[in-house]
Amino acid sequence: MIADAHVHFGYFSRCGEPAPHYYSPRRIVGVLNRCGVGEFIVSSTCAQVKCIGIKDIVREAREMKRLAGSRAHVFFWLSGHLYDDDPEMKWIGTGLFDGIKLHERETPWVQKRRKDLEKILAVAEKHELPVMFHAGTTGWCHPSKLAKIANEHPRIRFDFAHCRPMNQMAKVVAECPNVWTDTAYITASEFQCLADYDWHGRLMFGTDLPVWQALEDISLTRRYMKYVNMLRSAELVDFANQSFFNFIQPLPRAGRACGDP
Ligand SMILES: [Zn+2]
Repeated sequence: MIADAHVHFGYFSRCGEPAPHYYSPRRIVGVLNRCGVGEFIVSSTCAQVKCIGIKDIVREAREMKRLAGSRAHVFFWLSGHLYDDDPEMKWIGTGLFDGIKLHERETPWVQKRRKDLEKILAVAEKHELPVMFHAGTTGWCHPSKLAKIANEHPRIRFDFAHCRPMNQMAKVVAECPNVWTDTAYITASEFQCLADYDWHGRLMFGTDLPVWQALEDISLTRRYMKYVNMLRSAELVDFANQSFFNFIQPLPRAGRACGDP
């Protein structure tokens, strides 16, 4: 069994097509089923499309849950316009969402909307929802910048996605016990480097399915299996699955000893 911490559905570019392509929940679940994926974290790229509202995101999440049940952990990709439409984040009341995804390059939460970000993180903490941040090699997406936020919110579990730059990410994972990372969109040679670092039980398998098709003309199932094989050759299947299950479970309450009811 494979657990994938980084999957998408919704509208996304596909090479050779003039308008964004719609990847339905059914299409994505089909690929995951064919590739032996058990549980997965999924968020909708539709959140980036201005004319799509909270109702649409909720309807899609409901469809995903109908198809995959408790295997699907749906994260709400919170774009600026969706936050502005409902700053109290009442969509949490639907019970459909198990976490929040933020993408700094799509909405500059850290750089320009720090107050709103603090409100979002307060809600995440109250509801014990993990938070996924897009991470990267530059600017405010850099793990060293995001680490400050993780340190200020020790009760929240964060996934700094994409494991890049790898040496910096490993440093942040070592220093912040509430930070996980995932392998979404890393290359074959980067996969081979993963074993050079100690991930402290917080490295998850992630793929970014179906984002490959934005740049590559390739079958999703075939590309996905290639990714699974890279994970297998790195001998990281059990390690990544365990990291995944630790990530989706709430952290133990401070002050409560292990083994207490
Ligand atoms: Zn992604």
